[in-house]
Amino acid sequence: MPLVPAPLDPQARLIDQHIVDVLNHRVGKDERAAKPHDWFTATVLALRDKVIDRWMESTRRTYEARGKRVYYLSLEFLIGRLLRDALSNMGLTREMEAALRSHGFDLAELEKLEPDAALGNGGLGRLAACFMESLASLDIPAYGYGIRYKNGMFRQAIDDGWQRELPETWLAHGNPWEFERRESSYLIGFGGEVRPSGDGVEWQPAERVEAIAVDTPVVGWRGKRVNTLRLWTAQALDPIRLDAFNAGDHLGALKEEVRADTLVRVLYPADSSPAGQELRLRQEYFFTSASIQDIVRRHVQYEGDVRTLPDHAAIQLNDTHPAVAVAELMRLLVDVHGLEFDEAWGVTKRTLGYTNHTLLPEALESWPLPLFERLLPRHMQIVYAINSRVLREAHKAGLDGGAIAAISLIDENGERRVRMANLAFSGSHSVNGVAALHTDLMKQTVFADLHRLYPDRINNKTNGVTPRRWLQQCNPGLVATLKDAIGDAFLDDAGKLADLNAMADDPVLGERIAEVKRANKVALAAHLKDLTGVRLNPDALFDVQIKRIHEYKRQLLNLIETVALYDQIRSHPERDWVPRVKIFGGKAASSYHNAKLIIKLANDIARRVNSDPSVGGLLKVVFVPNYNVSLAERIIPAADLSEQISTAGLEASGTGNMKFALNGALTIGTLDGANIEIKDHVGDENIVIFGLTAEEVAATRTAGYNPRAIIEGNRELHQAVQAIASGVFSPDDPQRYAGLMGGLYDSDWFMLAADFESYANAQREVDRRWENPAGWRTAAIKNIANVGWFSSDRTIGEYAREIWGVL
Ligand SMILES: *Cc1c(COP(=O)(O)O)cnc(C)c1O
Repeated sequence: MPLVPAPLDPQARLIDQHIVDVLNHRVGKDERAAKPHDWFTATVLALRDKVIDRWMESTRRTYEARGKRVYYLSLEFLIGRLLRDALSNMGLTREMEAALRSHGFDLAELEKLEPDAALGNGGLGRLAACFMESLASLDIPAYGYGIRYKNGMFRQAIDDGWQRELPETWLAHGNPWEFERRESSYLIGFGGEVRPSGDGVEWQPAERVEAIAVDTPVVGWRGKRVNTLRLWTAQALDPIRLDAFNAGDHLGALKEEVRADTLVRVLYPADSSPAGQELRLRQEYFFTSASIQDIVRRHVQYEGDVRTLPDHAAIQLNDTHPAVAVAELMRLLVDVHGLEFDEAWGVTKRTLGYTNHTLLPEALESWPLPLFERLLPRHMQIVYAINSRVLREAHKAGLDGGAIAAISLIDENGERRVRMANLAFSGSHSVNGVAALHTDLMKQTVFADLHRLYPDRINNKTNGVTPRRWLQQCNPGLVATLKDAIGDAFLDDAGKLADLNAMADDPVLGERIAEVKRANKVALAAHLKDLTGVRLNPDALFDVQIKRIHEYKRQLLNLIETVALYDQIRSHPERDWVPRVKIFGGKAASSYHNAKLIIKLANDIARRVNSDPSVGGLLKVVFVPNYNVSLAERIIPAADLSEQISTAGLEASGTGNMKFALNGALTIGTLDGANIEIKDHVGDENIVIFGLTAEEVAATRTAGYNPRAIIEGNRELHQAVQAIASGVFSPDDPQRYAGLMGGLYDSDWFMLAADFESYANAQREVDRRWENPAGWRTAAIKNIANVGWFSSDRTIGEYAREIWGVL
C-alpha cells in the first residue's frame, strides 16, 4: 500500500470507481481480499466495458451503412498481450495507471499477469494480428476468423541447452477479453457420401461437429472503431453418450467430445513447411467452413440475395491454410442457395483474395487425393469441376502440356494430390505476394504458368507492422523523445516520422535517443539476467537475431561467425575489439532435427564463450528461451543491430526487420524480402548489406556449387567449422555437430559458405561504424525516420483500395 495515495483527477476517479465495482460484483472480491490476479481481471473487465460501448457503436454503424466488410481468414493470430494495446488505443493509460496506483498496484506489473496469446508460429500469424489492429485503426469494418486453440503454440523450455516443448496453458485462468457466442454456431461435416437430390446433389456427412464463435474485440488507434476477432471452438453434438456411460464405458461415452476437442487443441508448430496430417486438414476445413457459413448467413440475413455477396464481403485468405474456402463457398452457393455453377464461380472469384507467403515448392500445401476425397467428398467433386474449367481455359489460351500440368489443381506426378495454392489462385480475383522481390519471384517460379493464364491476378502488397504495438507501446522512452523533436503527428501517421530527417545530424537528439537506447538495454540486461543468469554489459553492441529457427534464416551463419570472432579475440587480445552481445531467440518445429540442433549449438557456444575469462567482457552469447510477442517487445527496443541474413530469395518479406529499424537498430542483411525495400527507404549508407543476390543464388546453384572448396579456402571459416565439428563446444559429445558441419561441406543448400566472407566483412564494417558514435546515431535516426512506410496502415490501405474495394 502506498503511504500517501495521490489524489485522483475526475477521469481517473471514474475509472477507479468502475474497477472497484467490477472487482466487487463481477470478480466477487473485496479490496482487501483481492489478489493481484483479481485486480488484473477487474482492470481488463473495466476496460472491456469501455471497449464494448465502441464495439456496439461500430457494429451499428456498419449495419446502417450496408457497406462492405473485410473478412480475414487465418489459421494463426499471434496477438500477444492485449491490455496495454487496448488501454493505449483507448487513450486511458494514464487514468488507469493512477487508479491502480491508488490501490498500491503498478500497471506495468499487473500487465505481466496477462498470458501471451500465442496462437501463431511466427511472422504469418503476427501479420494477421497487425492487420486486425490496422483495420480497426483505419475504420474499416472487419472480422478476423481463426481457431481458438486451447493450447496454441508450445512453450519452449531450454533444458541443458536443448529445446523442450511444453503445453502453453494460456486459458488456465480464463480469458477476460472474450465472449462466447452460443447463438453463433454452425455444423461442420466430415466424410460420408454425396447422393443425387432433386436437380442437384446432397452431401450426407458421416460426422458432424458444432463450431461455436468466441469473440474478442480489437480496438483501433484512438478507439475509432472496434472490430471482432472471431475464433471458433468445437463441441460434440452429443457430448456424452449416457447409455455407454451408465454401462460403465466412461471413456467411450466421451469419445465424441474428445474428437471435437482435438480439433481446437493445438496449433501445428511448423513454420514454412506443411504439416501434412489429417488433423491439420480437419482443422483447416473446420474453421474455414464455420467462417464461410457465418459470412454467407450474415449477408443473406441483411441483404437477401446471395448473388450480391461480392458487393458486401471481401474475404482474404492468409496463405493456403483456408484455401478450401474456394470449394466451400461454391458448395454453399450451388448446393444450398441453388446458383448455377458459372454464376457461383463468378461470385466466388469476386469475393476471394489470396495472399501467398512462401515460394519453396516443398512448402506448398497439397493433400493426398484419397484423403481429401474421403474427408470432403463433395468438395472433391467441386475441385474436379473447377479444374476442368481452368484447364479448358488453359487449352483455349494455347498453353502447352507442361504448362497445363503445372496449372492443374491435381498434381499427377506420383501419388495424386490436391494443390491448395492452385485452388486458391484459381478461385481468387487477386493473388498477392508480401514484398516486391517475392512477388516478382512468384511470377517467375511457382506461379509462372498460372500467371501466363491470368496475367492480371498477381500483385504486390509489401508487409507492414503496427506502429502502435511496435513503437508506441514497446518503446515509450523513444516516443517521448520523438515527440519533443517533431511533435506528435507521427502518432497518427507514421509517415510523419520523416520530419526527423532534417535533424538526423543533431547531436542533442542523437544523444537523447542514445540515452533511451541505453536505458532499454539496461532493462533488457536485467530481464535476461533473471531468465538466463548471464550478466550483460549495456555498453556493448547488442546484436540480435530473434525469429523462428530455420536453416533458411541462417542462425547457423551467425553462430559460425560468432565462433570465428571468438577465435580472433583469443588470438589477438591486443586489438581494439568492439564489445558485443549476441542475442538469439526462437522456437524450432518439434520435428525439425537440424533446427533443434542449432538451438543446442547456440547454447553450447554460449556456455563456453561466457565462461572464458580470456575474452573478458568482449563477447557474450545468450539464447533467450520461449521467444514470443512479449519478449520481442522487450528485446527490439534494446537492439543495436538487427540480423536479417536469410539466403536471398527465400524470406518472402520478414516483418521483424521492420520492427527493429523502427526502433533505431541498424540492419545487417541480405538483399532478400523486404530488406531490399528497407534499404531503398533508409538509404544505402544506413544499412549493411552483404551476400549473394537471389539471382546469384540461383545462378550459383545452376553453375554447380562447391562449398567444400570455399570452406577449405577460407582459414577463418575452416577453423570455425572444424572447431564446431570436432567437439570444441560439445566436449560431452564431441560428435554432436559432426553431421551438421558435414552437411555444409557436402551440400550447403542455404549457401552459408558462399556468403560467409562477405558476412564477416560486413560485421567488421559494423564494428567500424560503431566506433564512430555520432555516425551510428545519425544512421539510427535515419532508420527511424524512413521506415514509417512499413506501417501496416499503409499495407492495409493498399489492400483496401486495390483488392477489397473498401476505402
Ligand atoms: C515479428 C515477429 C516474428 C516475425 O519475425 P521475422 O524476423 O520476420 O521472421 C516472429 N515472431 C514474433 C513473436 C514476432 O513478433
